Amino acid sequence: MPSVNTIGSKSVTQGRSTHELIREKVETWLRDEAGLPTDGIGHDTPLVQLGVDSLGVASISCELERETGKRLNPDVLYELENIDQIARYLDRLPVTAPTAASPTGGVDAPAAAAATTMSVEATAQPSLLKHYELLNRRVRSLKEHNLYFFETEISAHDGTWVVVEGRRMLMLGSYQYLGMLAHPHLKQAAVSALNTFGTGHHGARLLTGTTTLHRQLERKLAEFMRAEEAIVFSSGFVTNVATVSTLVDRTCCVIGDEWNHASIVDGCRASGADFLIFEHNNIDSLAQQLEKAAVRPTLVVVDAVFSMDGDIIDLPAVVDLCKKHRALLMVDEAHSLGVLGKTGHGIQEHFGLEDSDIDVKMGTLSKTLANSGGFVAGREPVITFLRHHARGYIFSGALPTSQVGGSIAALEVIEREPELIQRLWANREYYVKGLKNLGFDTGHSETPIVPVMTYTDELVLEMTRLCRGMGLLVVPVAFPAVPLNATRLRTCVSSAHCQADLDFALDVLAKAGRQTGLI
Ligand code: PMP
Repeated sequence: MPSVNTIGSKSVTQGRSTHELIREKVETWLRDEAGLPTDGIGHDTPLVQLGVDSLGVASISCELERETGKRLNPDVLYELENIDQIARYLDRLPVTAPTAASPTGGVDAPAAAAATTMSVEATAQPSLLKHYELLNRRVRSLKEHNLYFFETEISAHDGTWVVVEGRRMLMLGSYQYLGMLAHPHLKQAAVSALNTFGTGHHGARLLTGTTTLHRQLERKLAEFMRAEEAIVFSSGFVTNVATVSTLVDRTCCVIGDEWNHASIVDGCRASGADFLIFEHNNIDSLAQQLEKAAVRPTLVVVDAVFSMDGDIIDLPAVVDLCKKHRALLMVDEAHSLGVLGKTGHGIQEHFGLEDSDIDVKMGTLSKTLANSGGFVAGREPVITFLRHHARGYIFSGALPTSQVGGSIAALEVIEREPELIQRLWANREYYVKGLKNLGFDTGHSETPIVPVMTYTDELVLEMTRLCRGMGLLVVPVAFPAVPLNATRLRTCVSSAHCQADLDFALDVLAKAGRQTGLI
């Protein structure tokens, strides 16, 4: 059991110096919560450089409070950069609360608890507000320097061109891989559903929210994904959180690729299962984690196509390992549905896998399908179980029927117009070849998601500013969406881009790249 003593000006917990204690907490958070490497941690290394974000700071400080019985002021903590600074701050604080080791912590527990409660009550509002203000510093600074490129307001669109602040710009960051956002068949299906069922819904799906269209979409998705049944959720994000956290619990193990989407990570965390992470697309690393999971019921969950890098998981190898270890396999097809496979049926078609090789086939309606919502297709017992246990399904209103009707129409278009997929890949090849000829680094991309690596925040912001100034709508992506030092422009091509669009994009990127020295 840890205990806190004070020796001179230096606190020691269980024989560890304050520095060692903080370092242990930082390492634990990096390894267990963020899945980040723990090597190269010096007492003067900036925590942000290691990958500790605001949630990390909050979580580490809670741990420190619990073990030392000292109350840390969050406002001060966010100003401290490294282990050394935090240690010096912590050593100056008095012990005011019981610790994990000694329930009374050598202080009068009721009095300490009252003091803590009072100080929280007296300061909660101003201190929390101050805390948000501090965390908003970066946003404020970007806005002040006209380098804030988020929530860009689009006022109109016409194919691949959009209007932003009165200016036409070529869209090069859309998830609409098959360019179906304004497809007449989708619009007509959405309007027809709207006319029949109205704008919203009567309630949650299990009670009053299910319509004939919802069941029609679920049957269509099951057939499209080569599965027995399907269930539709109100967003892709909710689908992952609700599904993973329902399929496994604290008696299980869940294993995910380190680059999995945030919604999968949140589902894994919320499940309470032992959450193990394997190195990105590294099958040996997955095998090691499966060995660790041993005989516990285990779910392996991966993205089919990784949303920031555009690379494809080595699914045949993952399938083999899951079969060997009797683990359930879930694949997120957000960026592969309508993209991978000759006829756009996703990663199963791409690798020529059997219908039953993927147990849980998750996807979104919001990307290629040009609507909103998410789904899971799979074996009937899995879907029936989710329908009656997934809280994100049970306690949320049904997906509006305009989205349901539009999604059915989108699946029909993929089946009727396979030339869209051929054009998408021809565009992707043309664009990537052009970028490579210019000398750009496109990272791991194997799909229409094509990062243009800049590696530094300064370069990505300058590239974005220059590109937008010349009429090209690109988006910067930095930590924590991608690892530190992996900053990039995230560009996407679609089947709707014509060759003139792609030439324009390459021309603008070339000018900006030369001006910034990126190429
Ligand atoms: N999974 C992946 C891989 C994603 O990229 C996203 C969205 N970017 C989601 C799930 C969440 O989907 P939605 O936007 O439909 O909520």
